[in-house]
Amino acid sequence: MNVTGDQALVKKLNKSIVLERIRLHAPLSRAQLSSQTGLNKATISNLVAELIAEGLVYETGLGESSGGRKPLMLLFNSRAGFVIGIEVSVQYIQGALTDLAGAIETELTLPLSQHDPAFVMEQILKLIRQLMQAAPPSPHDIVGIGLGVPGMVDESGTVLFAPNLGWGEVPLRQQLETELGLPVVVDNEANAGAQGELYYGMDGEHRQLVRDLVYISAGSGIGAGIMIDGKPYQGAWGYAGETGHMTIDWNGRSCSCGSRGCWELYASEKAYTAPALALPAYRTAELLPFARHGDANTLSVFQDIGQYLGVGIANIVNSLNPEMLIIGGPLAEARPWLEQRMREAIDQRALPYHRRQLQIRFSTLGSRSTMLGAAYAATAPFLGRVRVSM
Ligand SMILES: [Zn+2]
Repeated sequence: MNVTGDQALVKKLNKSIVLERIRLHAPLSRAQLSSQTGLNKATISNLVAELIAEGLVYETGLGESSGGRKPLMLLFNSRAGFVIGIEVSVQYIQGALTDLAGAIETELTLPLSQHDPAFVMEQILKLIRQLMQAAPPSPHDIVGIGLGVPGMVDESGTVLFAPNLGWGEVPLRQQLETELGLPVVVDNEANAGAQGELYYGMDGEHRQLVRDLVYISAGSGIGAGIMIDGKPYQGAWGYAGETGHMTIDWNGRSCSCGSRGCWELYASEKAYTAPALALPAYRTAELLPFARHGDANTLSVFQDIGQYLGVGIANIVNSLNPEMLIIGGPLAEARPWLEQRMREAIDQRALPYHRRQLQIRFSTLGSRSTMLGAAYAATAPFLGRVRVSM
């Protein structure tokens, strides 16, 4: 058949609309799809037939009839393919094999003893290959790989600057695609975390409604993933969200970025190393047992961190007016000891109209937000470029 480019494009768009409708609202009949999308029944039938042939949609049971024959219902086959989502942290790499709806099939963690890019690349490849071997048979097999890294990443997937890894200009995406022959997406860990929370951490109703969201990742530093009108806000060159380096004490301690008094010196794990503190450990996970046993030193550090977190969050809320703000990363696990001070500081400093309907939550995915957000980022291009046959 001879078809113009425009027709092919329209068909492709319609097909991805139909797939998305089934993915988010199944079970649906062909008649329901037709009335919900405005596409006529013949078009729906053709597109659904293609999606079934590709293994992305399947028919099940009989639905309710409004008179006449009961219709077959359509469901999304989330196991038509798999993706791998990876978070590179300072002390470890964690990865998951997930299906196309973010359900975790297998999960692995490798410790990182050093940060030399060649060594880290070797470990990433080792993790990916182990996860690939765990993939069950499926029509599309592994459709992509997503990574969240603690640094600034440009559009080509090159890590430009990752101070906590000591990296500059590492072409991560290009190297992995060459090595594996699969599409790779690389993003900053906080941006990935924001997507993980939005797409896999909320029930369907919230996911549809929340458009302006800030995800604060508080761990070895602080980064923010900003979603504006449902899309990640990257800034002009992709570097937005470095909130950890906003100044909250103009004459404060020196920061590795070259400035002074940066937020993350007071509100991330960097606060543990402040002079005169002498804490029993320097990682949140190791401090939690001390907090549970009422260690006064640890409790007072968590309360101070809570207060400082609240101060920075109030600045962000006043600047961006988000409808939801989610706190994630390792420090979210210290919630019982820092939440009250944090909320008090936000109440004292955020402007009244800004905080009136603001929802503040802690991450529902815990330490998995970035990994699952990276998996989502690898899934979205596959679902969006479902092929059209003419
Ligand atoms: Zn700084």
